[in-house]
Amino acid sequence: MNNNDRKFGGRLIDIVLITTIATLTVFIIIFTTTSNEFKFQNASANSQTGNQSGLGTVNSNVEPEISSSATQEIVNTNIEGIRQVNETLKDLNKPYSIQYIKTNFETVNTEINKYISDSKNQYENIIRLKNTVDSNETSSNLGNNLKIEVEMFTHQDRYLSLVFTKNVAIKSNSYDTSIFTLFFNLETGNMVDFKQIVNGDVKNLTSLSDIVRYSIVNNQSYQKHINQEALIKVTEPNWIYYKRFAIIDDSLVLFFNKGEIANSDIVKPTASVSLSSIYSLLSKEFQSGIEDHSVVTVSPPKKDNNSSDKRVALTFDDGPHPTVTTSILDTLDKYDAKATFFVVGNRVEKYADIVIETLARGHEVGNHTWNHENLTKVNSNQVIEQVNATNNAIYNVIDQYPTVFRPPYGAKNDAVISVIDLPVILWTIDTMDWKYRDSTNLLPMVQKSMHNNAIILMHDIHQSTADGLESVLKYLQDEGYEFVTVSEILQSK
Ligand code: ZN
Repeated sequence: MNNNDRKFGGRLIDIVLITTIATLTVFIIIFTTTSNEFKFQNASANSQTGNQSGLGTVNSNVEPEISSSATQEIVNTNIEGIRQVNETLKDLNKPYSIQYIKTNFETVNTEINKYISDSKNQYENIIRLKNTVDSNETSSNLGNNLKIEVEMFTHQDRYLSLVFTKNVAIKSNSYDTSIFTLFFNLETGNMVDFKQIVNGDVKNLTSLSDIVRYSIVNNQSYQKHINQEALIKVTEPNWIYYKRFAIIDDSLVLFFNKGEIANSDIVKPTASVSLSSIYSLLSKEFQSGIEDHSVVTVSPPKKDNNSSDKRVALTFDDGPHPTVTTSILDTLDKYDAKATFFVVGNRVEKYADIVIETLARGHEVGNHTWNHENLTKVNSNQVIEQVNATNNAIYNVIDQYPTVFRPPYGAKNDAVISVIDLPVILWTIDTMDWKYRDSTNLLPMVQKSMHNNAIILMHDIHQSTADGLESVLKYLQDEGYEFVTVSEILQSK
């Protein structure tokens, strides 16, 4: 546990306590008074301006309650059937400005209205509690504020993502930021949850979980701010963690609250993954209109009559390394395991004997660029140079061109892929060995996410990986897995 963790934990306890006390306080007050304080909750009057057509479809029972002194404006948006509500309360004690959406669908409106009502009530309750606690002080109420803003994103004119950003300040200038999202079909009004996006398959979620983690860890602007343990916790392949998402410009975007996976320097942490890169993980409906650039595929088990169908591809990046790679080759031999080594071009000539040895012992050699360049940061000519120079270096040493390619950091986009002739391979399980450098952590990282046809990412430049490898091999062998190269996994597609 580092200081950040404690801070996160401490804040959580604060929030739980405050919420509990606030709830109790409200009950006590409800049972003991009928004073003016409750004008807010009883008020039903409101002033409306703007276009109100279509309001007849909205059930008034689920409308968020509005303070009598709040002003409300309803305006049409450029999406058919979608109206935006702007509601403002200019009250020194508990001011707010809230945006939300009205649709023609009861189900969607109910969800939205519940969120808005809950947000307002929570805000009121916390202020009331603070006022009670601070009643002896001559403190002013300035500094309370609630702001909710909504953004809308359509996907193929058929789906709408709503992203609500809530900022709350209680007697403070610093805001807590949290996110709430809804995703629904614009034609039917049916709500769509994350399960429906990835075909309801936990294996797909597991693959996606790794991809999401990697995209966050490799986001340059997040690097110094990420809380690694918190990140791993809230991106576990469990449906409960995948509630806040949107599809924005053909990318799947996951949202996190301020302080949830990074320190508060990152106000709105997100992870964005292009739909084309996770094509094979999507349900049919979300594949339509998207090009398949997802080379990482968890293929269905092959129907072989007698042999085991369980297979796994171990992959090692960033070598060759004079001692670590050698040690890994020896361990693999003990288990008669074949693996794939993604080598960095500028190391190939220097450690030519190790590349020769790798091939001679039956492993696959892949291309991992010339100097571990992030290919999304250079132009197309440089991408081609990175790939070709490495191809040639490998050919010069083993008389064979590499058969597969893996971009450093998993960083790729359409421009990169379009100029690379080799299959572009990512992974489905990231052992994070580069981060932990702990031999005892390798096996748990594999066990946690293991699935059939997994492609496991490791690095043959860390001695800790070589040291932890045997436990992984033993475990997978006991579980009945056959160790194959990446190309063999791809062939079963
Ligand atoms: Zn690498």
